[in-house]
Amino acid sequence: MAKDGNCSLEFFPPKTAAGRLRLLEETVPALGALNPEYCSVTYGAGGSTRDSTVDTVMELAALGYDVAPHISFGTDDHEAMACLIHRYQSKGISKLVALRGDLPPDIEREHSLVRAGELVSFIREKTGSHFDIAVAAYPEIHPEAPGYDQDICFLKDKLEAGANKAVTQYFYNVESYFYFVDRCMAAGITQPVHPGIMPITDFAKLQRFSKACGAEIPRWIERRMADFSGDPDSAFKFGIEVVSQLCATLLESGAPPIHFYTMNQSEPVCTIARNCGLISSGSADASDKVIHPSAA
Ligand code: FAD
Repeated sequence: MAKDGNCSLEFFPPKTAAGRLRLLEETVPALGALNPEYCSVTYGAGGSTRDSTVDTVMELAALGYDVAPHISFGTDDHEAMACLIHRYQSKGISKLVALRGDLPPDIEREHSLVRAGELVSFIREKTGSHFDIAVAAYPEIHPEAPGYDQDICFLKDKLEAGANKAVTQYFYNVESYFYFVDRCMAAGITQPVHPGIMPITDFAKLQRFSKACGAEIPRWIERRMADFSGDPDSAFKFGIEVVSQLCATLLESGAPPIHFYTMNQSEPVCTIARNCGLISSGSADASDKVIHPSAA
């Protein structure tokens, strides 16, 4: 049986009708075995997913999930942002993930982005304590941050602006998360810092994305993946092993509930959740259980 509220799940708004059907009729029901505390839905800060994020949020809410839309100003003005926040409030949405976001390069030159802390203050000003607000945190430090301690100070600022918790960028060095949480506590941060976990599926894509977002893929993982370059099944199993062990270590350490970046796929997260004991082995997908070598 799933343990209540032991994780949260992130989805992106599907681009096609087929993707939408797959998400709502296959992926989300399969992941329901994890009994997530909430599901979040990403937002393209350039406005690219303005309608599809709202649609996906409402569809997940209609299925009975507590949903946290991601929001960021992007190129929107205060009026448009207030309108979106009030729309969510009127539909019974009670959670938000407040972000600065990243704009596509062509827009970035013309607009300066509104920082997440300012958005948190804006949400509190407009809706008081209605929303439970999460903000982003970076155990390996945000690529634009002037320094390690400064990034933690900025995280503290946005939490003090009224956010309830932080969710981290994904990481594969578990020590980077533990050290980061220690430094956050030393800086006086009392809100939980939830580990964000990205299953390793499409490794080439993950490598490209990690360069841009400042998450590090350890050399030993890259080298092992290189061994499996012509063998996608072995690469997949290895990725599952690595992330299962990472999650097991986090759970053993008493970390707050994990936030899974599902990439709209159920099998990797379900398998990882079974491997690390988040759900029992009879639950969810029928894929093979992968046991980490150290536990065999
Ligand atoms: P901020 O907290 O505003 O910080 C941005 C930068 O400014 C950092 O380098 C910070 O150190 C610096 N900074 C903050 N305050 C100050 C200050 N006072 N003075 C100087 N510098 C300062 N992106 C999307 O486009 N859509 C999504 O749905 C999305 N979801 C995400 C979910 C999670 C859990 C995470 C971790 C990231 C997500 N992102 C998303 C990516 C995120 O938008 C980018 O990492 C973006 O570059 C930073 O957003 P932020 O909210 O962390 O920014």
